Amino acid sequence: MGSSVTFPVSLRALDQPLTGKTSVGARAFCGFQGCFCRERPMHQPQVAVVGAGVVGLSTALCLSQLGPPCAVTVVADKVTPHTTSDVAAGMLIPHTYPDIPISKQKQWFRETFDHLFAIANSAEAEDAGVHLVSGWQIFRSVPTEEVPFWADVVLGFRRMTEAELKKFPQHVFGYAFTTLKCESSTYLSWLEKRLRASGVPIVSRRLGDLWELHPAFDVVVNCSGLGSRQLAGDAEVLPVRGQVLRVRAPWVKHFIREGAGLTYVYPGASDVVLGGTRQEGAWDLRPDAQTSRDIFSRCCALEPSLRGAAGLREHVGLRPGGRGVRLQAERVRGAAGTLRVVHHYGHGGGGVAVHWGAALEAARLARSCAPAAPAPPAAPAPRL
Ligand SMILES: Cc1cc2nc3c(=O)[nH]c(=O)nc-3n(C[C@H](O)[C@H](O)[C@H](O)COP(=O)(O)OP(=O)(O)OC[C@H]3O[C@@H](n4cnc5c(N)ncnc54)[C@H](O)[C@@H]3O)c2cc1C
Repeated sequence: MGSSVTFPVSLRALDQPLTGKTSVGARAFCGFQGCFCRERPMHQPQVAVVGAGVVGLSTALCLSQLGPPCAVTVVADKVTPHTTSDVAAGMLIPHTYPDIPISKQKQWFRETFDHLFAIANSAEAEDAGVHLVSGWQIFRSVPTEEVPFWADVVLGFRRMTEAELKKFPQHVFGYAFTTLKCESSTYLSWLEKRLRASGVPIVSRRLGDLWELHPAFDVVVNCSGLGSRQLAGDAEVLPVRGQVLRVRAPWVKHFIREGAGLTYVYPGASDVVLGGTRQEGAWDLRPDAQTSRDIFSRCCALEPSLRGAAGLREHVGLRPGGRGVRLQAERVRGAAGTLRVVHHYGHGGGGVAVHWGAALEAARLARSCAPAAPAPPAAPAPRL
């Protein structure tokens, strides 16, 4: 399927393959020159954000909102509804990243929760596809960590009562809480709309190398997810294949997540997401019928009323896993000069849950890497 995004007319001309690598002083020959001439304020630092998943779009939006001003352009080969982020169930329940301090993960989650809570509490909620949802996380044995680090970020966190646990005869322990859910494609469209309203163009282009953005851009923020295997030469980034089902079951109002989250039932605005799978190193984007049957039967074991669900659809996405989040500035030296890059990828199975907090940090880092803006042209001296 092709891209569903309508680009500003003046940018259509950019949607063509580059003819070669850029070289020092070749700003005028770069394929992105059109952005400067037609759309971009020349006196501001030029920042390219590579990627239009939830990480790229939120980072671009934070950059466009944080001062001092810079001119932001998003470059991506896939946009909603064709990204991994579109497949995400969109639940705000954190995934734990072993290499990142818990205090940092909690900060990212809290900032994301607060940001989405404000949206859910506003007239934008439906357009943005963000809503509150209550439910249970259940365990077959008591977990070692009885109170997770995010317990005081979500709302009303408590242990499940014996009466609630009666619904789940195979489970002995659980948490009850209220969190947020993003309808992923709706939220991505809303972020795109916000970006366009802030004058940020979204350019459709597949990059073979981040150097293609040099020297047209002063800083490149790499939010290419799994694409970082190629663009950052990072062989640690690996796909973690996830298959989910979406069904119509409007009577299911509570989420159910089993243990670490391999099996889940997440009700949304118009359908219920049933999951899932985590297959490391698997690249196949085609749904597998046997896997779908297995997901459905696991979910029905938790919520038997799902046997009456209709309108089943299957989706597959490849989580950018394997290495954990890389949020880091790098100066890459090459024959053509120095490329300032801020890497922001590797969010694995929890990118939606931390996207806004991590995007704020990536945007601050990118802003601090940008060279001082050239002075705007001086006004002509008045004639006396
Ligand atoms: C089944 C499933 C369920 C999930 N459920 C949840 C959940 O409930 N909660 C949660 O927090 N997370 C969930 N996730 C994880 C979440 O989807 C990811 O963490 C998140 O989408 C990663 O976002 P991203 O923007 O980094 O990557 P992506 O969405 O993959 O975006 C990458 C972008 O980079 C672009 N790109 C890549 N290479 C290039 C290139 N060479 N040139 C130009 N552009 C390029 C792509 O076109 C795309 O626009 C789930 C994932 C799956 C698969």
